[in-house]
Amino acid sequence: MLRPLVRLIWPAVLLLALAAPAAAQSQSFGTVDFDKLSAEAAGWLSSLLAINTTNPPGNELAAAKFISEILQKEGIYAEVIESTPGRGIVIARLRAGAVPDPARALLLLGHTDVVGVDRAKWTAEPFGGTVKDGYVWGRGAIDDKGRLVATLAAFIALKRAGVRLGRDVIFLAEADEEEGGEAGIEFAVRNHWDKIAAGFALNEGGRMFVKDGKVVYVGVQASEKVPVNIEVIASGPAGHASIPRGDNPVVHLAAAVAKIGAYDAPVQLNSVTRRYFEQMATLEDAELAKWTRALLDQPERLQHAAKKLSEANPVWNAMLRNTVAPTMLRAGVRSNVIPSEARATMNIRLLPGESAQKLVEDLKKIVNDPQVRIEIATSLRPTAPPSSLDTDFYRAIEQVTPAFFSGAIVVPQMSTWATDSAQLRLRNVQAYGIIPFPLTEEEIARMHSDDERLPLAAFRKGVEYSYRVIEAFVRAK
Ligand SMILES: [Zn+2]
Repeated sequence: MLRPLVRLIWPAVLLLALAAPAAAQSQSFGTVDFDKLSAEAAGWLSSLLAINTTNPPGNELAAAKFISEILQKEGIYAEVIESTPGRGIVIARLRAGAVPDPARALLLLGHTDVVGVDRAKWTAEPFGGTVKDGYVWGRGAIDDKGRLVATLAAFIALKRAGVRLGRDVIFLAEADEEEGGEAGIEFAVRNHWDKIAAGFALNEGGRMFVKDGKVVYVGVQASEKVPVNIEVIASGPAGHASIPRGDNPVVHLAAAVAKIGAYDAPVQLNSVTRRYFEQMATLEDAELAKWTRALLDQPERLQHAAKKLSEANPVWNAMLRNTVAPTMLRAGVRSNVIPSEARATMNIRLLPGESAQKLVEDLKKIVNDPQVRIEIATSLRPTAPPSSLDTDFYRAIEQVTPAFFSGAIVVPQMSTWATDSAQLRLRNVQAYGIIPFPLTEEEIARMHSDDERLPLAAFRKGVEYSYRVIEAFVRAK
């Protein structure tokens, strides 16, 4: 997805790789045997993938019960809570002391629901959890069951290794992430906040970039855009198609869609995207690095720089501004009838803190047609401030990452997609999103697609990396 070029980084990568401590290559860390742990966790993942939690309807209660059984076997109390019939979450906690301090606590979370499958396009059973050819196959292997299980393994390893904790560690497997979170994160935050209250969280949402088998950077999601749907509606008199008129709603809607499609909202940077582009400037080739620096430091060249970067990478375009994507068109009932109404659904992605109403006002001016009105549909996701990049947890990630992945840097990201972290950030939680698995672009693209599968070697890495990041932050100092 992201297309950084890495020529500039290689000398630095090599130096850091040579200087990396021998521990980074060893198989165990402290008293944890990661080969053994990840083999065991791969078994859990396989079983979890075999529980069909396609959302809708979800059926996450079965997954929550399965996870709670794993925790109970470890002597960790796990509470399964049904949110709506057949759906639910599981919560467990490792205590640092007798009196909990929610502001210090770390919440580890992930979702058990998955998106649907197009069975005909799969070469393995999507709900089988099959292990073959070095992969574990199944819907959710990457998003999000694989990461959830890697996190679960790290959580259990903390307990097994008897790590002395400086803060409580809470594990939450939640539901309904793929359909807005009403039966998952919304339910958990609204009704059971006392059980999950934390100052910090580790969730999904980031991206790791791998090139030629090496991790170049680990993207840590610290903010996210907010999806909002709008309806653009053209109306006019219905009539016989044999007598065309200038007020035909189909014609007016088409013109409005074309105008909105060509619209670029103003460029805006926030704390997360600014740091992201600063980091990218160190990874890109000379030409893109030049435009990245112009974007950050030369206000008079900002627009031109943004244009160059947006042309180079559509993801960057989406990170720099509010976007509007027309996605559905509806009009007409008969080929010989001019309809009285034509509609377009458009998906807006707002920068955090931006108002949909304000953007719609701008769109109305651009469309400038009294026959066309724009309505805002209810938003499923809240807007939340970015997580701070100046926290002990973020610094722990920055510290662990280059040692573990041979010189890889940490890059903060604002995802263009929504996650459950927004609800947490609204409660003052410094939430960060990571995919701990070193996956190629081709591998990561199978998320939400056909034949989703996770390489066991990447899973093994992800289990250890998750443990190291979490352990570095929660161990009593
Ligand atoms: Zn997900």
